[in-house]
Amino acid sequence: MERVIGIDLGTTNSCVSVLEGDTPTVIPNRGGYKTTPSIVAVTEAGKRLVGHIAKRQAITNAENTVYAAKRLIGRKWDSPHVKSALMTSSYGIVEGPHNDVRIKLRDRSYSVPEISSMVLQEMKIIAEDYLGEPVEKAVITVPAYFNDNQRQATKDAGTIAGLDVIRIINEPTAASLAYGYGKDFDRTVAVYDLGGGTFDISILEIASQGVFKVISTTGDTFLGGEDFDARIIDWLVSTFQEEHGVDLRQDRMALQRLRDAAEKAKCELSGVSETEVNLPFIISTGHNEALHLQRSLTRSTLESLTQDLIERTIDICRQALEDARLDVNDIEDVILVGGMTRMPAIQGAVGRFFQREPNKGVHPDEVVALGAGIQGAALVEDRQEMILLDVTPHALGIMTFGSRFEELIPQNTTVPTSRAKIFTTSRDNQTAVKILVMQGDSQNAEENEFLGEFVMTGLRRAPKGHVEIEVTFEINTDGIVAVKAKDLETGQAQSIEVTASSGLTDEEIKNMVKDAEDYMVERRTDEEFEAAKQQAETLVDSIESLFPDVERVVGSADFGRDAIAKARVIVDQTRTAIDHKHTRKVKDHLEQLERTERMFKGVVSRAQ
Ligand code: AMP
Repeated sequence: MERVIGIDLGTTNSCVSVLEGDTPTVIPNRGGYKTTPSIVAVTEAGKRLVGHIAKRQAITNAENTVYAAKRLIGRKWDSPHVKSALMTSSYGIVEGPHNDVRIKLRDRSYSVPEISSMVLQEMKIIAEDYLGEPVEKAVITVPAYFNDNQRQATKDAGTIAGLDVIRIINEPTAASLAYGYGKDFDRTVAVYDLGGGTFDISILEIASQGVFKVISTTGDTFLGGEDFDARIIDWLVSTFQEEHGVDLRQDRMALQRLRDAAEKAKCELSGVSETEVNLPFIISTGHNEALHLQRSLTRSTLESLTQDLIERTIDICRQALEDARLDVNDIEDVILVGGMTRMPAIQGAVGRFFQREPNKGVHPDEVVALGAGIQGAALVEDRQEMILLDVTPHALGIMTFGSRFEELIPQNTTVPTSRAKIFTTSRDNQTAVKILVMQGDSQNAEENEFLGEFVMTGLRRAPKGHVEIEVTFEINTDGIVAVKAKDLETGQAQSIEVTASSGLTDEEIKNMVKDAEDYMVERRTDEEFEAAKQQAETLVDSIESLFPDVERVVGSADFGRDAIAKARVIVDQTRTAIDHKHTRKVKDHLEQLERTERMFKGVVSRAQ
């Protein structure tokens, strides 16, 4: 059976899992960590770094280190979220060719799916190293509140990473799968998911026989741990400015150090009630004098700085219950997901709102990836005993006269779903009809997310129009939208051109896939070289350390001199092959080096 991995592609950290036998298992990375920072960097030498290694160099290479790319995925250049990211980011964000966002690293700009694909590729490698076999199929999670553009862009990221994304599932739904897996109960649960960049709340009914039915879902894709960090940064920056009259935001390196320190302080305050932020030499004043930042931050100050953010999540919970037409008393368990739910003030607020202690049985950082792995295995094994019924988080509709939004598929409709609508041509010989498809919850179409312009062309010519076209709007199980059209009289399918979407073109994706494949070959070659080099260097060191003894024991005999001379040649040749990064030659020398080492050790031990 082909293995499927489950990937939680997080704003801050990512996590990968697989089902081993019947046990959902998180796969550790090479450093032994179960989560990997979703951080990508390019070094001065043009080398790509992903994960912990990228995080470690973020301060000294702030301009070329991307974090929280998930906040930008599937967003349009002119959206308010991108404007806000522009203000606070230490890396370059530029406009792309399709009103999309590109990220500048060194001398190249990358699309956001490309950056995310680098994180996904790293997760794929982690899984392949662990399983000892290539992996292609994956289930990737997204925030439940992601719209079509964001889902499509995430799927593109998977494709670029060389993955066959067999399903996109919602993070809270994945968490509930892991929570209910193997248990046989009927329960209505709320999943409160606050991660590094996004907030989701889903209300689900879990029924015995493995039925997971989402009743409502809502959230905010621009509300998460990053906003809590930003409050601490604002507080540190403004108090520093008052004290020294210097604006730390003007210095990218200082800003990156502040960001790290703010996150660290926030996490520490989940365990202790006071912590110290200490950043020596944070900035130079230009008069050969450096300023230091030292401040103590208490848990209660942090809570007052972020109280409104927590309240926003509670208001959204209230909305989710209303949408589900349920009362807090109907909720039988509350599952906390995402690193931010370790903050005591959040646990307190959620507990007060739902009038019950949140469940402590799931691991907030791992549960989403575990659920994705469970779903992946169920899909390839075609397990009938697990049924997942999710909903669409936003209404789908079209723009009509006067910028009004005509809703076709309401929010919280179970997916997959479709609705048909009949359009009629009205003018003489009209051969084209244009439809503007949008997603969102406002009556005013302009306030909703524009998904694309669908143009039906080559329609039958008819005097005074009156050709009836049936247009079907579909949302599949990934939450991704498709539009199809057919001429009602002839039954013929009409071709539809999609324009003005902010996504990548097929051609662009093809080139990016090629780049990712090239990277993979390069990386595997580098790894092969490093492994051979390490083995060869150990042998060379050992042989060299044996030279004096071998010389002493057999150096006066012809065969001894001959063996030493040959050993010196092979050692020199190996060194040259290493210097030239010639993997095959290094590997070719290994056997002879091993033989030489064995012989030398034998000579020395016999003489003792
Ligand atoms: P996730 O996206 O689920 O990996 O969540 C990451 C977010 O959780 C980041 O903003 C982290 O700073 C935050 N986080 C992780 N651990 C803690 C903690 N102990 N207390 C508060 N926040 C935390």
